[in-house]
Amino acid sequence: MNTPVTIIGAGLGGLVLARVLHLNGIPAAVYEAEPTPTARSQGGMLDIHDYNGLLAIEAAGLTAEFRGIVLEGRQAFRFLGTDGTVLFEKDDDGSGGRPEVQRGDLRRILLDALPDGTVRWGAKADTVRGLGDGRHEVTFADGSTVRTDLLVGADGAWSRIRPLLSAATPEYTGESYMETFLHDTPARHPAVAATVGAGAMYAPSATEGIVAHRESGGTVHTYVSLVRPLDWFAGIDFDDPAAAAARIAREFDGWAPELTALITEADRGPIPRPLHTLPLGHRWDRAPGVTLLGDAAHLVAPNGEGANLAMLDGADLGRALAAHPGDVETALAEYEQAMFPRTAEVPSGEELMASFFGDNPPEGLLAELGALPTASDDRPGRTPR
Ligand SMILES: Cc1cc2nc3c(=O)[nH]c(=O)nc-3n(C[C@H](O)[C@H](O)[C@H](O)COP(=O)(O)OP(=O)(O)OC[C@H]3O[C@@H](n4cnc5c(N)ncnc54)[C@H](O)[C@@H]3O)c2cc1C
Repeated sequence: MNTPVTIIGAGLGGLVLARVLHLNGIPAAVYEAEPTPTARSQGGMLDIHDYNGLLAIEAAGLTAEFRGIVLEGRQAFRFLGTDGTVLFEKDDDGSGGRPEVQRGDLRRILLDALPDGTVRWGAKADTVRGLGDGRHEVTFADGSTVRTDLLVGADGAWSRIRPLLSAATPEYTGESYMETFLHDTPARHPAVAATVGAGAMYAPSATEGIVAHRESGGTVHTYVSLVRPLDWFAGIDFDDPAAAAARIAREFDGWAPELTALITEADRGPIPRPLHTLPLGHRWDRAPGVTLLGDAAHLVAPNGEGANLAMLDGADLGRALAAHPGDVETALAEYEQAMFPRTAEVPSGEELMASFFGDNPPEGLLAELGALPTASDDRPGRTPR
């Protein structure tokens, strides 16, 4: 079968691309491995930035729909010490420029804005080969194939399309997240609800950390971060959530109980999420008829930009293709020349701190982060790296 613009992956990046192409009258087909739109919980709050993600939403013509899914008040944030003391807090005064939405809601408004049948669910790309003249053939896990003049790898960290362009593969960063969910927290976990507050709660230390977000319906979604080798996690049975939670919580010995409750009282989890990255500045030589966007192109450890950048990639690529009808190579070159430099750097620790506190980070927080542990450091909650 021949398809028009062929996008592998219906994540946020691939869907924004399909939508911008649709707005410009360019047909596209999106092939997604998941069997249905609701097969997997999309989980997670995303703050969408006015300098990248929001621009993509605008290009997709979905600003009004986006406003309808913003969770008001969620731009509030607070930093806690490991003893539960609030070191810094800021209410959501509406001036943040980073509206918070649930990833699942964002994906839904994008899906709803595409013509029926654009996304082919249950289509897991398996292998891909060049046919010459910029044409490619993708073979799916069920043995079916498509041939296309323009192939876009929007299939995330473990892209099946990337090998056409680059030999790079993701490497473990040394850090993993354990994801937990506590539901209906005001009624069922009031101490946790009070600790997390109205928006985001960060409790960092030098080698561990807990980040929690208040989602809709009183759910608190937490990422517990641990800097440990992969084989350390391999020794934990995550199929036994209670035992896994107890094991993870031991690493937070000495932390305030209202913080460790985010692990031990979880209704779901801990679910391990090892963090991987492609080499920073990953790029490739222009190859006819194929390109990448989002994590497939520039996977980094979560820094609050990945989904925003994936959407901006999709919008930019869609606009470039619309601007150069009949000249795919010029469009791809234009897209890549803009995308490579903006993804070649990640915000430094200082820049991330400045995005929260300006020039005046709270001293208590610096003390928490600055007391780097050593192998002989036996203070509670301070596991050496
Ligand atoms: C724990 C965690 C927290 C994060 N928090 C944030 C945050 O707060 N803000 C932010 O901006 N970013 C965040 N990110 C980063 C963000 O999730 C990614 O950068 C973003 O999802 C990339 O979008 P994408 O469309 O490129 O890829 P993805 O979202 O990964 O979508 C890829 C799609 O391709 C499909 N797929 C994969 N393989 C195949 C195949 N072989 N065939 C067909 N389909 C396939 C997948 O099922 C998926 O639907 C976080 C990441 C992690 C791991």
